[in-house]
Amino acid sequence: MTTIADKLQAVQGRIGAACRAAGRDPAGVRLLAVSKTFGPDAVRAALTAGQEAFGENYIQEAVGKIVALQGLPIEWHCIGPIQSNKTRLVAEHFDWVHSIDRLKIAQRLDAQRPDGRAPLQVCIQVNTDGGPTKAGIAPQEVAALAAEIRRLPRLRLRGLMTIPEPAPDFAAACALHARARALFDALNADGLGLDTLSMGMSGDLDAAIQAGSTMVRVGTAIFGQR
Ligand SMILES: *Cc1c(COP(=O)(O)O)cnc(C)c1O
Repeated sequence: MTTIADKLQAVQGRIGAACRAAGRDPAGVRLLAVSKTFGPDAVRAALTAGQEAFGENYIQEAVGKIVALQGLPIEWHCIGPIQSNKTRLVAEHFDWVHSIDRLKIAQRLDAQRPDGRAPLQVCIQVNTDGGPTKAGIAPQEVAALAAEIRRLPRLRLRGLMTIPEPAPDFAAACALHARARALFDALNADGLGLDTLSMGMSGDLDAAIQAGSTMVRVGTAIFGQR
């Protein structure tokens, strides 16, 4: 049987190979282990194997795990959709949020971030495919939302997150990821100082790294099928 530690190592190997192919330093790509639907034991196994950052989609499920694993050196990232009535749980329990897609959610997270905790590290989720039903905001709306978020004292804007449509091949996947990269570069040219481009999952992390991802979010390839 392949263990979580084995699969983590294989994913690190893929990240390393993708970085070599792209002429990039592997230190410039962080691995976020997406542990949604898997229990605290799976998280503990990955932590023991050296993984420190974990991503969760479902707030209620995540909070159960976060509480169960309290005291361990884990950085928790919220990567799923956030309803207004869940912002308090997110503000109180997570270190990062990748899925900010409207000002109201950012304002609530800012107001509800507890005193004495580090600022919540946030990314704006952008819909680079133009699909109207998809999560994330349109690329042309990102600069305005970024400017508003930068005024919120308990949030720190780190970058962008995107989930491109599945692509038929490597070149097409790179082209989709390159749209997010172009937006990221344009915002930085305007002085935003962003350092995080969260893109790439089990199926497309190689293309995402080729296009400039700085954080890949990997679930299935580490923990198995959900
Ligand atoms: C589930 C999920 C992932 C991980 O996807 P895998 O294909 O299992 O690697 C990454 N990002 C988001 C936003 C997800 O919901």
